[in-house]
Amino acid sequence: MKELWSKRCRELVPYTPGEQPREQKLIKLNTNENPYPPSRLVIQAIREATADLRLYPDPSCLALREALAQDQGVRPEQIFVGNGSDEVLSLAFQAFFDSDRPIRFADVTYSFYPVFASFYGLPYEEIPLDKNFSIPLKPFLEPCGGVVIANPNAPTGREMDFCDLRSIVEADPNRVVIVDEAYVDFGARSAIELIERCPNLLVVRTFSKSYSLAGLRVGYAISSENLIAALNTVKDSFNSYPVDRLAQAGAIGAIRDKGYFQATVTKLGATRTCTANALRNMGFTVCDSMANFLFASHERVGGKLLLEALRDRGILVRWWDKPRIRDYLRITIGTDEDMKRLCRALEEILRENS
Ligand SMILES: *Cc1c(COP(=O)(O)O)cnc(C)c1O
Repeated sequence: MKELWSKRCRELVPYTPGEQPREQKLIKLNTNENPYPPSRLVIQAIREATADLRLYPDPSCLALREALAQDQGVRPEQIFVGNGSDEVLSLAFQAFFDSDRPIRFADVTYSFYPVFASFYGLPYEEIPLDKNFSIPLKPFLEPCGGVVIANPNAPTGREMDFCDLRSIVEADPNRVVIVDEAYVDFGARSAIELIERCPNLLVVRTFSKSYSLAGLRVGYAISSENLIAALNTVKDSFNSYPVDRLAQAGAIGAIRDKGYFQATVTKLGATRTCTANALRNMGFTVCDSMANFLFASHERVGGKLLLEALRDRGILVRWWDKPRIRDYLRITIGTDEDMKRLCRALEEILRENS
């Protein structure tokens, strides 16, 4: 079957994203999408941008970078925009890491990191998280080819101690540290405040989660001008026009509606607290989460059984068949109504399996 594939392609192990079901009635708590719609300003900005669809988009995303720069207190030259943060991460792996020294990331973290590293032929070491799933400090202070840390981490939701994170970045100014802040807006402290002092730090962010724009595909990096120049060099050697006109316009609309953004992340934070309490009362161990999801395991019933029993009741969550986390589910925070239905379903499943 694969004779026509290149040898390299035959050996690839691609990332498996969470299911995107055709059935509309399912409650989707499996891919960390925001349950609330994007701001009306997003839709309005996209509608206005359709007037110029015959024209190529601005390859440098200047208007969006200016809006982000103002929002984040940096200069536009310190920002790089891509088609979702997955693309930004992919370009960053090419721009900052070499095959002569292994890069390091956690054993339980965003599963795209090993996929990118393998694809680009970069050796890597997976550092085991502590027993309570926190990121250990020492292995990340040791010399290596580069570091990638998701903060808050996925799928655990745990925020790393800020001083620990800073000491990892400062441990070696000659190695790049990527901090993936896909979930930072849900309550964690951002590393952006370190950027002026630490030119080796690259902070990667996305509009997919906190701004409800997973379907638009916009992510960005904030860093020193030097690292941003490297990302532009890789991008412009490959495809100068990645972010389309509608996506650039929509993202600008999203930034302009700070009130709506604040209201949705606050609401999701409150729903997260209620859901975590309810799960603990049912006998779940729940990681302290600063993200829009919870990572939880039950004292009696295994992860796979829970996954399948929830699926039978029309609720999708995420589960990994991996040694350390086989008993855990990752549950996205939806609306209060979604979470009530989740809890009712879990109570029923636990009763049936008592
Ligand atoms: C969702 C997610 C991303 C990717 O987001 P996109 O911008 O939609 O590509 C990156 N990192 C982590 C840890 C994520 O969970």
